[in-house]
Amino acid sequence: MAELGTDVRYIKGIGEQRALSLNKLGIYTLRDLVTYFPRAYDDRSVIKPISEVTFGENVCVAATVATQPALSHIRKGLDIVRLRAVDEKSAISITFFNQSYVKNQLQPGESYIFYGRIGGRIGMPEMTNPVFEPEDRERMRTGRIVPIYRLTAGISQNVLANAIRRGLEACGDLLPDPLPPSVQERYELAQSRYSYENVHFPKNFEALELARRRLIFEEFFVLSCALDRFRRESTEKKGHAFSNTDISEFLSALPFELTGAQKRAINEAIADMTKPVPMSRLVQGDVGSGKTAVAAAVIYAAYKNGYQSAFMAPTEILAEQHFLTLSAMLEPLGVKCELLTGGMKAKARREAVSRIAAGESDVIIGTHALISGDVEYSKLGLVVADEQHRFGVQQRAALSEKGASPHVLVMSATPIPRTLALIVYGDLDVSVLDELPPGRQKVDTFAVDEKMRPRINAFIKKQVEEGHQVFIVCPAVEENSEENVDELKNVKAYAKELREKVFPDLRIGLVHGKLKASEKNAVMTSFSAGETDILVATTVIEVGVDVPNATLMVVENAERFGLSQLHQLRGRVGRGKAKAYCVLFNGGDGEKAGERLSVMTKTNDGFKIAEEDLRLRGPGDFFGSRQHGLPEMQIASFATDINVLKSAQEAAREVLKTDPDLTLPENASLQACVDALTEKNRGTMN
Ligand code: ADP
Ligand code: MG
Repeated sequence: MAELGTDVRYIKGIGEQRALSLNKLGIYTLRDLVTYFPRAYDDRSVIKPISEVTFGENVCVAATVATQPALSHIRKGLDIVRLRAVDEKSAISITFFNQSYVKNQLQPGESYIFYGRIGGRIGMPEMTNPVFEPEDRERMRTGRIVPIYRLTAGISQNVLANAIRRGLEACGDLLPDPLPPSVQERYELAQSRYSYENVHFPKNFEALELARRRLIFEEFFVLSCALDRFRRESTEKKGHAFSNTDISEFLSALPFELTGAQKRAINEAIADMTKPVPMSRLVQGDVGSGKTAVAAAVIYAAYKNGYQSAFMAPTEILAEQHFLTLSAMLEPLGVKCELLTGGMKAKARREAVSRIAAGESDVIIGTHALISGDVEYSKLGLVVADEQHRFGVQQRAALSEKGASPHVLVMSATPIPRTLALIVYGDLDVSVLDELPPGRQKVDTFAVDEKMRPRINAFIKKQVEEGHQVFIVCPAVEENSEENVDELKNVKAYAKELREKVFPDLRIGLVHGKLKASEKNAVMTSFSAGETDILVATTVIEVGVDVPNATLMVVENAERFGLSQLHQLRGRVGRGKAKAYCVLFNGGDGEKAGERLSVMTKTNDGFKIAEEDLRLRGPGDFFGSRQHGLPEMQIASFATDINVLKSAQEAAREVLKTDPDLTLPENASLQACVDALTEKNRGTMN
């Protein structure tokens, strides 16, 4: 029997060369090999008599080779082997192209299972290049459900399946089995050995389901235990315990009454910060739920305790917006706000950096420039990250290192289901802002096509005449790609056309990603101040921009945006007293685009929209687990296996309650699996 850590090259039939190819698939050890699960299955379990096969179907037949396989060399590069095979009633003719070696593998008089697509005519069935195996031996590729693996050069399905077969045999009883017997029993999960066998080489679909369920559960279970460990390690870190929790001055200076949800989130965060352990809290709230005021309150609390705060925004425009908002809320109370962005002039930046180091600034608002090498804080006590999904885990860690473990508050509008939030943000506590400020109204949304253009233009005009402002958003201009150069031209040309032809009497601003920070700023400021009527923008305005007088959001080529992104965009309007609208131009054809956009017209609920997005687009781009700082899963999916996740988490909690350090003998194997996962993902999880 072999250790799970054994190098794959020592497995029979592998050797140096193939081991290198396997390495490319991330397979280094026996453990990696047996946990390399199929990406799909091919159902070759049906074996039919030749007389019952139908044209075009993929099927197995059991037949005896009736003629000596004949090799003919047609021309250079084209060899053909032909033979006839028979069962009790009928015959089938079989042809192989450029596989002359099969001539010696197929013996007249012997029986084989052939799997392939039926061609030929009625009464004269044929198969071309079938997969075949002797009937009387254990079969891997025919007459059964066959695993399909993700491959790389130098490795075929056959080689991989055989290696896994041998790997499983070599493991014997040493297969990884992290489930304590009590958990396995309680959740009615299949045995480990059975599950590994049947996930790779399923006896039937029922066995495959049982196997998959066990392995998915197991993977989530180990993950939950590993995350729990991280959480405990981070709570062992020393933080600054704040003692002054009185923020009444801040509250009475606010121009509005906080919602219940905002109050709750603020209280939860302040309670966290009174502990000697660094806070790790996520404030999750739909667009417009008022996350900025929550951040300001928490920043104010840090200030009252003599600490600096760093506020990190995903873009310069947003940093500038937040700088204005926070200054307005906090400066009157004596809190000094500082803006620090990459686009600043060297001199201004130097001065800002020295004020920060001297402790003259209380809250520093910026982009990733906040964590660049030359920025030293005098007394950093709190970090707020807005729209944290735009930040890499490493940036967050780098920022934390600038102070002695500051408290961390992250704010996100990405609506993900709560269970998922808990696991995705493993080490975070979550406050949900599930209440919008009063007076917010539903934004009436319309999905339209080009035919409606004149009517929409008239509508834009009418909004402006009533004293309101309008956003027109075009798909993004991104960095350095050919296609995007065209898009940039497009958005510029489009603004020009609007200015000269469509709305010559209106004041139109243009903002896109290629503008300098100061230029962007000027355009945005003038729009905020009501000096322009229409702002033509790429998605740089996607998050956070706050102009309550804007009542209409028009999105061009809306089919090119994700639904959650459209929801964010729509959240830019409907913030004032007047009725607000969103118009989505569908520039695509096809039903799917229409169906997606119609979701937007039916609901304003960010959670529902996220679910629909997931359903219509699949999990791919939505749950990039890397993006969230989670390890790559082998078999489980955060998108589709949520129910299993719930019970696995529950099971993990129970086990950890009685054995938090996993020292009991029955948890030894679990402990080993948690270690293996942790080791493999150092630096990924946080
Ligand atoms: P988001 O959660 O999308 O970041 P913001 O913090 O930008 O939302 O808040 C959106 C708007 O709502 C801002 O204009 C803000 O001043 C206003 N606002 C926030 N909280 C309240 C409240 N409790 N009552 C009224 N208006 C509020
Ligand atoms: Mg915001």
